[in-house]
Amino acid sequence: MNGKNVLVIGRGVAGLTTALKLVNAGHKVTIWSKEADDQFPRTSYNAYAMWVPVAIGADPRIERWNNETFTELEKRAADPDTGVVMRQVFILKTAHSEPWFAGKFAGFRHPKAGEISDQYPDAHVLDKAPVVDPTVYLPWLQKQVQAAGGTIEQHDVTTLAGCPSKYSVIVNCSGLEARTLAGDKGVFPSRLQVVTIKPNGFDKVVFDDEGPNKRACIVAHRDYIKLGAVFDERIETLETEEKHTLDILERCRRMVPGFKADRDDVISVTRALRPEREGWLICVEQTALDDGRTVIQNYGHDGMGFCTLDGIGNEIVGYLS
Ligand SMILES: Cc1cc2nc3c(=O)[nH]c(=O)nc-3n(C[C@H](O)[C@H](O)[C@H](O)COP(=O)(O)OP(=O)(O)OC[C@H]3O[C@@H](n4cnc5c(N)ncnc54)[C@H](O)[C@@H]3O)c2cc1C
Repeated sequence: MNGKNVLVIGRGVAGLTTALKLVNAGHKVTIWSKEADDQFPRTSYNAYAMWVPVAIGADPRIERWNNETFTELEKRAADPDTGVVMRQVFILKTAHSEPWFAGKFAGFRHPKAGEISDQYPDAHVLDKAPVVDPTVYLPWLQKQVQAAGGTIEQHDVTTLAGCPSKYSVIVNCSGLEARTLAGDKGVFPSRLQVVTIKPNGFDKVVFDDEGPNKRACIVAHRDYIKLGAVFDERIETLETEEKHTLDILERCRRMVPGFKADRDDVISVTRALRPEREGWLICVEQTALDDGRTVIQNYGHDGMGFCTLDGIGNEIVGYLS
């Protein structure tokens, strides 16, 4: 295979994961992003970053990317330097149901007596799924890219066509900014307020997407616990609100009786924007500039970036082989 000179735009989980796959496949890789060397983008850095099963009927590739990503993250969980741990996950339900992944995901089961609050008649339980601490994982990925020969530079890209002609391939991992760089009108933000608290011995993931504490979410990382969330579609201001912090703490305590989360336990409160795309369709496709150079779009990962990007990286390596 002939190694290509590739420019990856973006240093979030999309840019770094894709860059690592490409550099390991023998390509010469440069990453450009708006952040300075020691900074990482707010979206990727503040994510819960848990793996959950995802499948979107309109794009069957997503389920495959999700499975391939599980396999790689599970391997990484064996190395404490990656920030990946395996956790039990409880997806709380308001009625008994069989999920689409029952029978496909070996670690799936329903809860045992006493495992969840009696506010919920059922839950979809994964006995072991990866949870990624982005504050450890992104620097780890970046080090891997650099150790394999990749270069990282701070640059604000105005247009894809304006990127230097020495790059024969441009991979656009610009997240929400794909609205501008790819001119994609289907990309929009969902704003989340999330709260980080001190560790308190709780070591699971529990969330309620539909019930009495809707949008409450507890994600136990190794060194802290992330709680969420307050959700607003298509709003981009990033100031946090104390009333939402208190509401998040309250909903999490209600969701898991006995869970300790007081105002004094809070380490930080953040707002971050999830890069959504109409129809939950992640954009992964190969196109070309007018001068014939290859462009690979890789954006719009919604709440699935950490769940899919290793599989997407494998697919992109395939485009260039
Ligand atoms: C609170 C929260 C919780 C989440 N939880 C989960 C979860 O549990 N599981 C999961 O899978 N996903 C989760 N997500 C979603 C996940 O975080 C995103 O899908 C993922 O981080 C998107 O990564 P990205 O690299 O595409 O974007 P970003 O992290 O936004 O990175 C974009 C990059 O592009 C660069 N860029 C943009 N424009 C330009 C330009 N013009 N020139 C140069 N560089 C540019 C930026 O500088 C940045 O480096 C969550 C998100 C949030 C906010």
